[in-house]
Amino acid sequence: MYRVSKSVSFCYGHRLLNYSGKCRHLHGHNARAVITLESRVLDARGMVEDFSKLKQVVGSWLDDEIDHTLLLCRDDPLLPLLEGAGERVYVTDDNPTAERIARMIFDYVAGKGFPVVEVTLWETDTSHASYCPDKHTD
Ligand SMILES: [Zn+2]
Repeated sequence: MYRVSKSVSFCYGHRLLNYSGKCRHLHGHNARAVITLESRVLDARGMVEDFSKLKQVVGSWLDDEIDHTLLLCRDDPLLPLLEGAGERVYVTDDNPTAERIARMIFDYVAGKGFPVVEVTLWETDTSHASYCPDKHTD
């Protein structure tokens, strides 16, 4: 089995609802996502996937949708105010935690046809969350 991983960096803002820690306040992170692909065989180039192709596809989506954007739950009462003020907002169905951002990136990469097996989202230098589907239940 072969595995390759690509890191992409971006900035985002968020806050968490129904949470008593510091993340209940609006704040930002300099995040790094590590996207891991896996394959039993290599392609004709001897690769699982071209790193530059993955960076191009994921990087352009992150630049357009997530980078320097506020990720807010659709139940957040600040949403209408911030949208009305012209802020860049990406609306999520649930609290935009590191776990859910990792899942969001995983789903995007999988939807683009890459053989992704795991996405790890580094929210700080010391804290990260990962998502990989349960092979038994998906
Ligand atoms: Zn945070």
